[in-house]
Amino acid sequence: MNKVRVRFAPSPTGPLHIGGVRTALYNYLFAKQNGGDFLLRIEDTDQTRFVPGAEEYIIEAFQWLGIRFDEGVGIGGPFGPYKQSERKPMYKQYADYLIENGWAYYAFDTPEALDAKRKEAEAQKKTFQYDANTRGSLCNSLTLSEEEVKQRIASGAPYVVRFKYPADLDITVHDLIRGDVTISSNLLDDKVLFKSDGMPTYHLANIVDDHTMEISHVIRGEEWLPSAPLHVMLYKAFGWEAPAFAHLPLLLKPDGNGKLSKRDGDRLGFPVFPLQWTDPKTGDVSSGYRESGYLPEAVINMLALLGWNPGTEQEIMDLDTLVKLFSIENISKSGAKFNLEKAKWFNHQYIQMASNERLLPMFKAELAKHGVEAEPEFLAYVANLMKERVHFIPEFWEQTSYFFVAPVEYDPAAVKKRWKPGTAAHLRKMMEIVESVQPFSKEKTHDLVMEYVQGNELNMGAIMNSFRIALVGAAKGPDLFEIIYAIGVPETARRVERAIQTIEP
Ligand code: GLU
Repeated sequence: MNKVRVRFAPSPTGPLHIGGVRTALYNYLFAKQNGGDFLLRIEDTDQTRFVPGAEEYIIEAFQWLGIRFDEGVGIGGPFGPYKQSERKPMYKQYADYLIENGWAYYAFDTPEALDAKRKEAEAQKKTFQYDANTRGSLCNSLTLSEEEVKQRIASGAPYVVRFKYPADLDITVHDLIRGDVTISSNLLDDKVLFKSDGMPTYHLANIVDDHTMEISHVIRGEEWLPSAPLHVMLYKAFGWEAPAFAHLPLLLKPDGNGKLSKRDGDRLGFPVFPLQWTDPKTGDVSSGYRESGYLPEAVINMLALLGWNPGTEQEIMDLDTLVKLFSIENISKSGAKFNLEKAKWFNHQYIQMASNERLLPMFKAELAKHGVEAEPEFLAYVANLMKERVHFIPEFWEQTSYFFVAPVEYDPAAVKKRWKPGTAAHLRKMMEIVESVQPFSKEKTHDLVMEYVQGNELNMGAIMNSFRIALVGAAKGPDLFEIIYAIGVPETARRVERAIQTIEP
């Protein structure tokens, strides 16, 4: 087998959808598993759809995700340039070759003329198609004299080059996921390959680049399957060996009804883009996994399993494990439903597994957003204590703020439920017990406080939660004696007094 070389070939028309990230991931896994190369090619032939910032966004997203390209835009390599707009001069010779060899023709039909044809067909409840049936009655190099064609081109008349499908031909695409997919050429439109402005369309540029960049496998979304017969025919026309094709199942909405779109994310409250994106035209902001507090490892693991499984029940797999276990045979044919709960679950798992080295800088950054600084040892202590309660990185503040800053408000519902008249006096007594244990010991203090609560026949839930409200501001958090240990006895005493002064002065 030739060397495995695969590519991810996005068009810079906006932020990268997570479906695109999954396509790139599967390409990466396949390349690495086979000791192959993984390329980033930017397909920007359609300048009308170009969006400023999209290319930079794509590169930044993969940097964040830790998916590295071996060659491509931003990296370079022996098959460059890797951006189609920079390859523009090389495509015309291929369009010319197809025309000279009877695989393509010039077409001069104006948009108005084609529109009229479409309307005519519609009136007869048909769909207009530029094909073997209609091309003979349209304005192209098959119907005009050679002289006229030359003259039109010389005079600068706009034209397109269209592919000329042979009539009545069954075209088969061998797909590694779907098996053989066959379609009759009679159902296919003579697609535009090249325009008189010198720009190829996606189809021609894609095939020329895949061939000249020695791509061995084309792994891409199912939405490109309808284009595959044309691509197969183009390889045949050029006399080139076609790469192997694998069309990946769609990513579906959580309820399984249709393709996952940007709007679903906005509507259902989850990101569909790896990084936050601000639309340069409208200023609309779409949320990103990074900004929502996901770890890239979790996003990768979650995406890997949307459409593929290792054939076992194993769910937690880092990038290296995925490289080992990935196989195209285990990619499913049917669409994969996006599952927000599962995404959260993965993130929670990865936060728990993350080393302090990985976690602490992020934790520190969350605190900094609230103007709080802490010693690394203390941060590590709180992280170890609290990470099992954290699903997303910003929760490191929400779940732990009271370790760093004393509460100034007390959850009224919790106070109403737990704080009874007389609680203040008992808390002061309990505080004396806490202060009497020198040096402080979690176990010993716990036992003595419990003795006091039982000896005075106090309602355990009420009194212990009141103590907690004084330290935390709410009825939440880990073991009370862990909190006392973390913030220290003098700070505990200050918080208890302040709560009493506020709630039961
Ligand atoms: N430029 C196409 C896209 O935006 C690439 C499709 C392909 O991989 O052939 O997805």
